[in-house]
Amino acid sequence: MMIKIKLNLQGKVDDSYQVMIGRNLWAAIAKDLAENPPGKKCVVITDSMVIDLYGEKILSALCDAGIDACALYFSAGEASKNPKTWLGLAHEMLRLGYGRDSFIIALGGGVVGDVAGFLASTYMRGIPWVQVPTTLLAMADASVGGKVGIDLPLGKNLLGAFHQPKAVYADIDCLKTLPRAHLLNGMAEVVKSSLIKDAALFFLLEKKGKEIVKLKGDAIAKTLARSVKVKATVVEKDAHETLGLRKILNYGHTMGHGLETLSNYRLLHGFAIAFGMRAAGRIAVEAGFLKKSDLDRQNRLLKKLGFPSRLPARLAVLLKSKSGRSKFFIILARDKKAKSGRVEMVLLSGIGRVKHSGKEWTVPVGEKFIALGLEEIM
Ligand code: NAD
Repeated sequence: MMIKIKLNLQGKVDDSYQVMIGRNLWAAIAKDLAENPPGKKCVVITDSMVIDLYGEKILSALCDAGIDACALYFSAGEASKNPKTWLGLAHEMLRLGYGRDSFIIALGGGVVGDVAGFLASTYMRGIPWVQVPTTLLAMADASVGGKVGIDLPLGKNLLGAFHQPKAVYADIDCLKTLPRAHLLNGMAEVVKSSLIKDAALFFLLEKKGKEIVKLKGDAIAKTLARSVKVKATVVEKDAHETLGLRKILNYGHTMGHGLETLSNYRLLHGFAIAFGMRAAGRIAVEAGFLKKSDLDRQNRLLKKLGFPSRLPARLAVLLKSKSGRSKFFIILARDKKAKSGRVEMVLLSGIGRVKHSGKEWTVPVGEKFIALGLEEIM
């Protein structure tokens, strides 16, 4: 005999949340959380750098709003995004008596967001969390879309989940303490958003680029808001990366990731992506998809914002050698968009437009074109 019982679980869960962007938000964050509490008590998870900069500010604002909170932190940097950190934090939360009715505040850059979000997705089978991103990369990219995870010895982000935060609070004033290289790191993702989907944002960056990187006036908040909107629109349509549309967020990332890997991660992500966008732009021109004048506009903007146009000498020398170049091609063939080892790239057909046919958002790119892309940045 066989008995079958069906569990009807088709109902959609509403994971909607808001991203709030402003300046000096500490009191506003605490007030909002007191009015709409995601849980009874909270733990602020952060890193060793951010705790000194903003730990006191957030804890005293939470305390003033009557929220029961304490902070846990780990050593700053990607090296901490591992199972040991995640387990250590989970044990500490258990020791401190945090139950299913508690929530997490992730205060920091993309590393803190990924670790704290993964902890929230797994702690007691999942508890609510909110994000307070403090790097431009985390504000523009990592805090939108609910991807959380940690690295394993075999690769980055191999253990993870989709766990949407209840809210995101991006305080522009936090960017004042961020080193310039890290500001540009996030700016590359903002430029990417404009190139794939928002020509008006690209225009704003062209017009106010200098003011934006100096964090003056409202321009940075407006820029960030538009960039977040681009990612949010894509994520809304393809929340779990099933339709292929989400691939467009990978513009510049195929060759960018390849360069980042080849440099043993000495090249900062955003700088690698900026080189990747230059290379992809050249490939699109050579393939006849993009006007040369649009490539020039893209490259002029990247230069104006402070991105170099040529690879660091050591990387260029490596890529000129036979062994370095074949290593680079092997890395590209392992890219998650590659099909049966064939490199697939997101290419532009104009400023704010991705070249696509139907539901295909990537284009196969052969070695000859990749070599031309490399020529653009060497
Ligand atoms: P990060 O979190 O390591 O921050 C960079 C450095 O800046 C750290 O030393 C940090 O302590 C410091 N810092 C943070 N805020 C600061 C501030 N306001 N002032 C001064 N210093 C500050 O790195 P990141 O670039 O923010 O994020 C990179 C990580 O994000 C990677 O692990 C990447 O995989 C992940 N990421 C995740 C997603 C996603 O969707 N989940 C998207 C993009 C990137």
